[in-house]
Amino acid sequence: MPKQKTTASPIKKAPTHATKEVAGVKRVEKKSAKAVGRLLGLKDYVGTDFLSWDLAMTKAWELARIFGFSALRTPIIEDFDLYKKSTRKNSDKEFYFVDFERGEKAVLRPELTQGMIRSYLENKMEELPQPIRLFSVGPIYRQEKMATGRYRESNQFDLEIIGEKKPMSEAVLINTAYRYFKELGINVQLQINSLGDTDSRKEFNSKLLAFYKERGRRSKLCNHCKKNLGKNSLALLDCREDSCIKIREGAPQIADYLSAASREHFGKVLEYLDELGIPYNFNSYLVRGLSYYNDTVFEFWPVGDDGVANSKLALAGGGRCDSLVESLGGKATPCVGLAIGLERAMIKLKEKNSFATYADEEELVYIAQIGEQAKTKALLLFEELRTAGFNVRQSFSVDSLRTQIEEANALKAKITLVLGKKEVMDETILMRDMESGVQEIVAQKKIKEKLDKKIIRKVGVIYG
Ligand code: AMP
Repeated sequence: MPKQKTTASPIKKAPTHATKEVAGVKRVEKKSAKAVGRLLGLKDYVGTDFLSWDLAMTKAWELARIFGFSALRTPIIEDFDLYKKSTRKNSDKEFYFVDFERGEKAVLRPELTQGMIRSYLENKMEELPQPIRLFSVGPIYRQEKMATGRYRESNQFDLEIIGEKKPMSEAVLINTAYRYFKELGINVQLQINSLGDTDSRKEFNSKLLAFYKERGRRSKLCNHCKKNLGKNSLALLDCREDSCIKIREGAPQIADYLSAASREHFGKVLEYLDELGIPYNFNSYLVRGLSYYNDTVFEFWPVGDDGVANSKLALAGGGRCDSLVESLGGKATPCVGLAIGLERAMIKLKEKNSFATYADEEELVYIAQIGEQAKTKALLLFEELRTAGFNVRQSFSVDSLRTQIEEANALKAKITLVLGKKEVMDETILMRDMESGVQEIVAQKKIKEKLDKKIIRKVGVIYG
């Protein structure tokens, strides 16, 4: 029988074989022909991934609130015009188009900033006392070339200060991100530069173009930079390809072309950072791909155990974008923003095993039950303790006490409460200290009081 011609699917999939560790040996597993694989560049969060995810998110919400940012949630799908108008045209980022409604060009958002500004305008936040401090957390989509730590779906923690021109806003944003990494135990180096205002850049751009066109430099550039030369020459300085890093040596420096106002503004930002004790590296090549930035731009790079900062896996980036609100239909309004990449932060947390320590810090109360009557009572007790702020766990679908105790051990519960028929009748609970193994019978109405002596209540954080 002649071989049937198959049409290749236009959608690329992740490899259909995965490695699985069986009894300490790595084996390559072939999936069945029917199995549908993950799409390329997308990631599943499995098991312990959620501990580092939880830690990265909880810290984001905690710090955003402490530093006075209000939460905002915007749609994942936005009108393509939002990005076309706000100068994504010179960006590297490739869009995922969505067939939303006939004739309407919609995309999966490639970043959070534009949606947040749209929402600021649409919800008339410009009429409120300025500045407005907003934060948002959620997924973004970019059709990118695959690389370590680069996904097509990733999540950002985005902070924006809208309506404030003063250099203090840069200091507040940078400080929030710096504390975020510090409190998560992630070593970072702040890279900072000033791109100046439009006036500053006019002369600089022509000098830069002339530099790159000189003595065969152009032919040695990577393909992407070759295309960008003349369109967004500034972005060439920031290319992270080794060949382009070599070529840029000796290029003109934007610092020599800053207007007096831009020089003063940047000087003040650096002064605040000194006051706050935030070390920085003045990096005259830091430009950031997008053309909506002016004046201060910055990134946080991870620092390895060898003390070397890695420019290829930036953890966060941001800057001043004073033209953005106006370009989206608002009145001229200064703005400064920052986005932290949560997956990159998670990579660092996993390297350091920080999430395990974080999980250990939770003081858990496990509620075990034996018999039907006890199950009902345990359900009520669970709700009572949970709403009182205790960190409670259970497995009500399991009948065996042994299995429940094993689970309590696996969760590293500090206390296990056991309810059986006798306890239900006597209105008592068996309270077991899992570390010492000491058990005591406690009256049900005294349980919170007893737990308070052994455990710290924790008020849960709600996030989306
Ligand atoms: P950007 O919006 O490009 O300035 O990115 C801000 C931060 O988001 C970066 O510093 C990264 O930490 C993270 N990030 C951006 N793109 C990706 C991606 N494709 N995969 C994972 N993280 C990303």
